Amino acid sequence: MTEPEDMTPGGPVVIVGGGIAGLTLAERLTASGKDLDVTVLERERKPGGLARTFSRDGFLFDIGPHRFHTADPSVNLYLLDVMGADHVSISRCSNVYMAGKYRSWPLTLRSVAGLPLPVLFRSFLDLFRQGEEDEIRTFADHVISRYGRNIYEYFFRDYTEKFTGCSAGELHYDWAEAGVNRAVIDRNVRAGDLFSLLKGILIPKPVSTRFYYPSEGGIQTFCDRQAERIRSRGGRVICDCRATGIEVQLGRATGVRTENMGTFDSNMIYWSAPVSILYPDAGFRFMDTIVCNIALESARSNGYQWCYFGEKDLVFSRLTVPRHFREDMVPEGRDSLVAEITVSDMEMRRNPESLRNRLFDDLARVDAIDPSKVIFDEWRVIPETYPIYDLDYRNRIEGLELPSGLELIGRCGSFWYNNMDHSIGQALALAEGGAFEKDFWKT
Ligand SMILES: Cc1cc2nc3c(=O)[nH]c(=O)nc-3n(C[C@H](O)[C@H](O)[C@H](O)COP(=O)(O)OP(=O)(O)OC[C@H]3O[C@@H](n4cnc5c(N)ncnc54)[C@H](O)[C@@H]3O)c2cc1C
Repeated sequence: MTEPEDMTPGGPVVIVGGGIAGLTLAERLTASGKDLDVTVLERERKPGGLARTFSRDGFLFDIGPHRFHTADPSVNLYLLDVMGADHVSISRCSNVYMAGKYRSWPLTLRSVAGLPLPVLFRSFLDLFRQGEEDEIRTFADHVISRYGRNIYEYFFRDYTEKFTGCSAGELHYDWAEAGVNRAVIDRNVRAGDLFSLLKGILIPKPVSTRFYYPSEGGIQTFCDRQAERIRSRGGRVICDCRATGIEVQLGRATGVRTENMGTFDSNMIYWSAPVSILYPDAGFRFMDTIVCNIALESARSNGYQWCYFGEKDLVFSRLTVPRHFREDMVPEGRDSLVAEITVSDMEMRRNPESLRNRLFDDLARVDAIDPSKVIFDEWRVIPETYPIYDLDYRNRIEGLELPSGLELIGRCGSFWYNNMDHSIGQALALAEGGAFEKDFWKT
C-alpha cells in the first residue's frame, strides 16, 4: 500500500467516486497540510453516491433509509465535526411486515406472540436441534445453524431470495453475517443464535437506538459539506466525469482515464467506483435498486421510519417514510414514501415504470398508500447498490493483483456490503496512513 507519507509532495492524488468514502478521504487529505493535489472524479451530476438526496416540489427523498449510527469513536467524532450542531438525534422505529401484520423490528415478545402457532411451535422445537449443519458455506447453512430451519424458512429465506434474486444456497455466508448485522444496528440486541434471539425477545435489553441525521436537507447535506470543505482548501470535486479505467506503466498506476475529460495523471489513485470496471473479467456482480419516490396528499398513519417486506408476492422489499426522519422532509400536511425494489433483470432496469400498477396494488394491499391520493411518483434506477456475495467472491478479491499506486476503497471499490460509517472509517484510516483494520468480511 502506498501511504500518504510516501507520496511525492504535490503529486496528484486522484479519487474515483465522490461517495462518502471518496469524499471523506479527499476531505481529510486536503486537511492534512501535506500540500497534496487532490481531485475527486464523480460520474453523477452531484456527489454523495448512495447517500444522495433527490428533491421535488418541497419533498426530499434519500435513497432508502439513510441514518448515521456507529460504534467507532473516531467515526463519531468525524460525523460531529462535519455536521457541527446542525444535526438531530432520532429514536429508531423500524418494522417488519410478517404474516399480514406490521411488527416491531427487532422483534419483541408482543410481535412474536402474534405469529401463526405452527410456526412458533416448530421454531421452539428447533431450539433442541441446533448445530445440525456440518459445514457452513452458504447463507442458508449459516442461518439454519443459528436460528433453526423454521425461522430460516419463515423469514430469512424468502426475504433474502426476493432481495438478491439469488438462491440462499448460492450466497456466501458472509451475506448473512453482514445482512443480519445491518438490519439490527445496536450490538446489544444482535442475537447470534436461536437461544439469544428468544432471550432477547423474552427479556429485552434497554438499548440506545438513536441515530443522527442532518437538521437540514437530506443525508446529502453531509456530503455537500464535505465537498465544500474540499473545494475551499483547493481540492477539486469534478462531477459528470465517468472514469473508464487506469493507465499502468511498469507495474505502477499512473493515471485515470475518463470517458469525457481525458486522462488525469496520478501519483496515487483511490478507486471507489465499482471494482468490476477495472477487472471486467473477474466476475464481480452488483445488484441495482429501483426506487419509487411517492408524494402523498395527506399524512398517513404508517408509523415506522422504514419497514422490511419479506413476502415474495410483494414487489418491494422495503418502504421508508421520510417524514419520520424529519417532519420538514415533506411540505406541511403532506406525506411521502420511498419504495425499494432490488433488480438484476435488465428489462426492469430499462423500464422501471412498467412496475407501477403492480407496485401501487401491492402498496394498497399492505395499507401503505391510497393510490387516489398520490401527487406524483418518480422512478429512479440506482446502479450498483449491493455487491453480490456469491460462493467464490472472497477468492475473487484475494486473487486481485493491484499495481502500486492504486488502492480500492468504499462499498463498490472494495466490494463490501457496508454502511456509511464503515466507508468513513476506512477513509479516515487511509488518510492517516494506516491500514484498515476492521473485519472486512463482516461489519
Ligand atoms: C437502500 C440503501 C439504504 C442504506 N441505508 C444506510 C443507512 O441507513 N446507514 C448507513 O450507514 N448506510 C446505509 N447504506 C449504505 C451506504 O449508502 C453506503 O455504505 C455508503 O453510502 C457507501 O459509500 P461509498 O462512497 O463507499 O460508495 P458509493 O456511495 O457507492 O460511492 C461510489 C461513487 O462512485 C461513483 N462512480 C461509480 N462509477 C463511477 C465511474 N465510472 N466514474 C466516476 N465515478 C463513479 C458513484 O456515482 C458514487 O458516487 C444504505 C445503502 C442502500 C443502497
